[in-house]
Amino acid sequence: MPQKIMMVGDPVLRLKARPVAPEEIGSKKIAGIIKKMSDALRATTDGIGIAAPQIGASLRIFIASEEALAIDAGTMEHPEHAKKKKWTYYVFINPETVKRSGKKTKGTEGCLSVPKKYGLVLRSEKVRVRAFDEHGKKFERGASGLFARLLQHELDHLEGILYIDKADKMTGVK
Ligand code: ZN
Repeated sequence: MPQKIMMVGDPVLRLKARPVAPEEIGSKKIAGIIKKMSDALRATTDGIGIAAPQIGASLRIFIASEEALAIDAGTMEHPEHAKKKKWTYYVFINPETVKRSGKKTKGTEGCLSVPKKYGLVLRSEKVRVRAFDEHGKKFERGASGLFARLLQHELDHLEGILYIDKADKMTGVK
């Protein structure tokens, strides 16, 4: 059965997610949640990220797809090939924003929990995030462009914030 994605209106999307305890990272339970998140993301046609609350788990975990980096680099293959490609997924556990640029930019966002809608959201152009990976290793990652936007969108999910709260102009299907 495909993994269910929680839709806007579900209270779990509005909770402040709880941190994963250090000893939980790498556990069967957390690995299972990450697997469910990956499966849900792979099953979508245009998703580039997913946060744990979106599969009903109120935990501070999100996944960002390498696809966002490919879009930023302008190295996207033909869209049909891109869909079949097995993108690498970067796992962020207990992420914290280390730095964000004062310079902001508006860009279009969508969300797997708000189907068939898009909106313009103002976000920092660059961001630096510290987190643990799925093996419990601490890392820091700087991001710009779409990848920076994606990280900020996913960080918001962990606070119970949806992009529709911030978008100043919503539109329907692209
Ligand atoms: Zn989202």
